[in-house]
Parts: sequence; C-alpha cells; structure tokens
Amino acid sequence: MFEFELVAQSNLARAGVLHTPHGPLLTPVFAPVGTQATVKAMTPIQLKDLGASLVLANTYHLYLRPGDTLVRELGGLHAFMQWPGPLLTDSGGFQVFSLSDTRKIDDDGVTFKSHIDGSMHRFTPERAIEIQNNLGADIIMAFDECPPPLERDYVLQSLKRTHAWAERCQSVHRRADQALFGIVQGGIFADLRTESAQFLRALDLPGYAIGGLAVGESKEQMHATIEVTNAILPEAKPRYLMGVGSPEDLVNGVRLGVDMFDCVLPTRLARNAAAFTRRGRLNMKNAQYARDPGPVEAGCTCYCCANFTRAYVRHLIVAEEILAAVLLTLHNLHVLLSLMREMRAAILEGTFENYAQAFLQSYQPVESKR
Ligand SMILES: [Zn+2]
Repeated sequence: MFEFELVAQSNLARAGVLHTPHGPLLTPVFAPVGTQATVKAMTPIQLKDLGASLVLANTYHLYLRPGDTLVRELGGLHAFMQWPGPLLTDSGGFQVFSLSDTRKIDDDGVTFKSHIDGSMHRFTPERAIEIQNNLGADIIMAFDECPPPLERDYVLQSLKRTHAWAERCQSVHRRADQALFGIVQGGIFADLRTESAQFLRALDLPGYAIGGLAVGESKEQMHATIEVTNAILPEAKPRYLMGVGSPEDLVNGVRLGVDMFDCVLPTRLARNAAAFTRRGRLNMKNAQYARDPGPVEAGCTCYCCANFTRAYVRHLIVAEEILAAVLLTLHNLHVLLSLMREMRAAILEGTFENYAQAFLQSYQPVESKR
C-alpha cells in the first residue's frame, strides 16, 4: 500500500503511479478542493466524468462542521461524501494559522476561535491526527505551522516546532490504510528548506509536501524553493506542492519534479465568472460576450463548451443563476485536469520539455488572488 512507482522521467519531470486503498493515482495529479466534503457546484459523478482522481477535503472545516466523529459514525469521508476514489485531508494547520487575529500558538499546539460560532478550540499534532484518522482519507498531512515566508527569524523558530510536531504526528498515527505525509517548511530560505527536507526525509514518511508557498513570495522565489527542496527529497516518494494550481504554476511545478497539486483556484474563479483558457484567463461577465455565439473556449471538449455559447454563460452570470457556477467549474476543472493528463503523456513520450515551452509561450498568466 502507498507504493510509488516512477514510470518515466524527463529531466526533472516525473510520471508515476501512487497506489492507494481507493485505487491508483496517476501522477502528476491535480486535486480539486472539496473544502466541506464537496467540490462546490460539482456532483461526484461529474468529477469522475472530468477525470478527477484525487479530491482534497479540509480538516478544520469538517472538524467544526459536521464533526469528525459524526463522519466516522457514518462510515468515514468516502462514504459520507460518496467519493469512491482517493481522498486527501490537510491537517487544519493552514486554516488555523490563517485566523491570525483569533489564534494563539505555543510549542504544544494552537488555540483558536471557530469562524462559525466563535467557540474556542485547540489543535495539537496528536489531535490533528486523531481527527484525520476519524475522517479516514487515504492521504493525511502532518500538523505544521505555515509562517510568513519572508521573515527569517520567525521561519527559523517555527521550523523547530514544525519538525517536533511531525515526529509527534508520526508517533500517534495508527491507521495502516492512511499515508501520513510530512510538510517541508522554511520560507524562501534555501538553507532552511534544505534543513527541513533533510529532517523530514530521515523520518522515512510515505510522501512529502512542500508547504508555505504561494503565500506572498515571487514566482522566482517559489521556483527556486521547489528546486532546492526536491533536490533533497527522496526520488522514490511522491512530492506534493500544496495550494498551487494556476496553469503556469502546474507546468513549472511538474517541470521541477512535483507529482501532486491541489488548489481552490479553478473552482473559486468559476464562481467569480472567470474561465481558464489555453491562452489565459477570461472574465465571462464582460459585456463583449453578450452576443458572442462561440463557446467559452474554442476547441474545448468539456460539456460547457460542447453545448453552450459565451452569450448564454454570460447571461447566467448576470442573472445570478446557479448553472453559471456549474458550467464554469466544469470547464475550469476540465482545463486543469486535461493539462495534467497531457503533461503525463508528454513525460511518457519524452516530449515534456517541448510541451512545457509551447504551453508557457502561448499562456498569458494573470497574477492570481488566492
Ligand atoms: Zn470547456
């Protein structure tokens, strides 16, 4: 279980298979985010039809509502949300640390206030694992601190905590049908990332995440950090870049040897009327699309583009119809999931570098608000 086979490599880019109790994951893979045990606007059947293989759910949200013990009673997260494939839960750390006004960190854990009813709660590494054991995802994450990436003193201090917490997570994790991944931190500092990757590598976990990126650093800093980290992480274990999912970041991440990604970007943008295309991002609310008889993206084979006009999609957005979110979410996920499939095929065929260059040349990135 959780064996990772490397099938092909092209420079640093890798194609592999990660075996999980709910089926194999073909990597590189992008995971749509189902924060509250649902990928917003999608049914599980729609996700399957899109070719999604891995779905992420958020521990912080599910712990607060409906509660991890309730999910366990109802058969665990796979049964509860009716997702038959592999699932991943984060540790709750990122959300808790994002509540910067209402949380208190110490070396043992974090005390925080619920965003739902203001009640007080406490996460420790042991508690984060217990909750994730109750939820029952295939891949679970160590409880870590995600510090401001540019503040060296803070990053250094929090790194010690993150490492001690990783050991505590490993020592209490009991379910053999769940893989516990460690999370490398260290901000944008090469020496700290190296130290963190070395420390976690020594724990011999079944997979590793690169955390604390796409939170305010430049693209150059992000790429340099991925490169430094991947140079230390073991070849034979999957590497997961957390919270990154713009098309250009996916291509650059795969190019630097990342195997797994997740991000709210495609689904969140869809609910804000934005469509990904192979050339950049479109705001489908714009008046220029009011009488446009073409599809959202010419040549796209998704259900939205195969059947509906830009004029109709824009009408749904302006009229605030639920179907607008459904159609644009379908389209955006289709764009990212086909990009991942194409990258995997290119790695297998030995043409990845050409593919990546051609994609990045025609794609106009938009600095995204995450
Ligand atoms: Zn489409």
